[in-house]
Amino acid sequence: MTQRSDPNDLTKCPLCGQPNECAVAAGRDPESCWCMTATMSPSALESVPAEAQGKVCICARCAAGTPAGD
Ligand SMILES: [Zn+2]
Repeated sequence: MTQRSDPNDLTKCPLCGQPNECAVAAGRDPESCWCMTATMSPSALESVPAEAQGKVCICARCAAGTPAGD
């Protein structure tokens, strides 16, 4: 039951549970976030649980379409 990260934890990637390094979640300027310049993989975005969509950032590795754990 703890395989997935808490969808309410804004600091963790909902796909892999690793820190998403989101600037907003860290209390920093949103424009300083890595996601502002990153290209998101559509398949990664589709994998985000519905309850986390629009709330929790995914991490850079998942955004690039590279599954964690390898
Ligand atoms: Zn991730």
